[in-house]
Amino acid sequence: MSPKPIARVAPPAEPAVPEKTAVALEDLPGVGATTADKLREAGYTDLMELAVASPGDIAEAADIGLTVAQKIIGEARRKADVGGFELGTQVLERRKKLGRITLNAKALDELLGGGVETQAITEFAGEFGTGKTQMAHQIAVDVQLPVAQGGLLGETVYIDTESTFRPERIIDMSKAVGLDPQEALTKIHVARAFNSSHQMLLVQKAQELARQRPIRLLVVDSLTAHFRSEYAGRGELAPRQQLLNKHLHELLRFADTYNAAVVVTNQVMARPDILFGDPTRPIGGNIVAHASTYRLYLRKSKPPKRIARLIDSPNLPEGEAVYSLTSEGIRE
Ligand code: ATP
Ligand code: MG
Repeated sequence: MSPKPIARVAPPAEPAVPEKTAVALEDLPGVGATTADKLREAGYTDLMELAVASPGDIAEAADIGLTVAQKIIGEARRKADVGGFELGTQVLERRKKLGRITLNAKALDELLGGGVETQAITEFAGEFGTGKTQMAHQIAVDVQLPVAQGGLLGETVYIDTESTFRPERIIDMSKAVGLDPQEALTKIHVARAFNSSHQMLLVQKAQELARQRPIRLLVVDSLTAHFRSEYAGRGELAPRQQLLNKHLHELLRFADTYNAAVVVTNQVMARPDILFGDPTRPIGGNIVAHASTYRLYLRKSKPPKRIARLIDSPNLPEGEAVYSLTSEGIRE
């Protein structure tokens, strides 16, 4: 089965603080009160979300036929003014709003062209103990810094699938960069994801939060662990990949809509067929490889050193950076 490509979504004119659309769902032809309620319950609360949804999802969410769903989406697209072509100049204008978050280590920042980018998914892949979770904590701290210091004065939604979020680490790391640790903790909204469908639901919850708070970073640590353990059988690969694709699609939409950075972590698995070079590869195959705008592959070196390699970037050369895991966080 060939993976469905992930389409980029045109964000609203001002992505940082999106305006709620004035048009109510009920104003769309074919949407009565019941349908509108069902849609809202499923997380489709405004026109933009409907406009970029797939007919299948809408039909399922609202218990309506595909044709009606298509019509609703079409109308939402027209009203929300999306789905057309963008001029190169418009794309450039949108990219000018890109924000970058420092990783607190010069070599790593340079590897990423100046830090972790908004409107993109950055994936940290590597075996246990390479610092994926430390990296996620560090970015959740650094995003709070003023722009001049490599932050975005932003807050974080942190989806924790393995119960490895540690406020103590946030306290250590925020002190080290001169932030008030208690205040830093109030700017990280942590949710424990109990399984893969809960994990996906939390992205919708994150959207609700992002309408009220200046969320500029969404962390999913780990992106793939639940999917991997729940869909372990051979015959389950296709449904797993389909759901992962949907999840990533929603993450990318979040990144675009809220001009936020999305940071995901990913484990690697052994690849016994490889005799030379690194015998591991990130979980999730093509789907994850394709959806991640930046993929950093982490490996161990002489402690406390680790090495990050950037692979498959659309606009940056491949390269490597050495960093250290210290009590104060990620360092050069
Ligand atoms: P996994 O795949 O198991 O989730 P990971 O890549 O997320 O692994 P991390 O939890 O980010 O790995 O890294 C753990 C490492 O971070 C430890 O082995 C240690 O080197 C370092 N570390 C964690 N806490 C501290 C601390 N307080 N002081 C110094 N180093 C620390
Ligand atoms: Mg971890």
